[in-house]
Amino acid sequence: MNPRKIGVLGLQGAAREHRDVLERLGQTPVDVRRPEHLFGVDALVIPGGESTTMSMLLESSGLFDPVAGLLADGAPAFGTCAGMILLASEVMDGRPDQRSFSSIDLRVRRNAFGRQLASFEADLEVEGLDTPFRAVFIRAPYVESVGDAVEVLASAQGPDGESHAVLCRAGQVMVSAFHPELTDDSRLHQLWLA
Ligand code: GLN
Repeated sequence: MNPRKIGVLGLQGAAREHRDVLERLGQTPVDVRRPEHLFGVDALVIPGGESTTMSMLLESSGLFDPVAGLLADGAPAFGTCAGMILLASEVMDGRPDQRSFSSIDLRVRRNAFGRQLASFEADLEVEGLDTPFRAVFIRAPYVESVGDAVEVLASAQGPDGESHAVLCRAGQVMVSAFHPELTDDSRLHQLWLA
């Protein structure tokens, strides 16, 4: 795999963990906190954290428009948890002023596994992986519905007893409702990079 300069949005949340995984995979991660940090970056990771806060910080840092431009130009993107919310075309239970990039055609519901439930882990069957992936969910969203071009790679049971998509991909954009950067398993980052 050729090393690539991959921006990791570092305004808030679990950014360092993503940079560590990317480094382990021989990539060149870049901490993106200001527009000039995007120089030479050709792919972007948006980490977990708090999507409302990240949306605000994206605006105040002047990063929202340049990031939107990079994504509109087709840069590969990987959004985890809050990052999934920020890449989605439609956000349910969001704050009215929170913005997203509409990079993947899906409707996502914030805090869908219950606001009180701080976190849980589950072994997910993932399309394209031979063995289950241990997924860490932290006040996670799930996907309510996806557009035609979106592949669902993994699902998990929601509090309603129904199965909901938690890992999706459309072209170069991949999103997970959980935190793959918080385990030693880098297979999802590899899947995205491939
Ligand atoms: N609940 C958070 C949000 O709405 C996401 C949580 C996370 O990224 N772990 O942004």
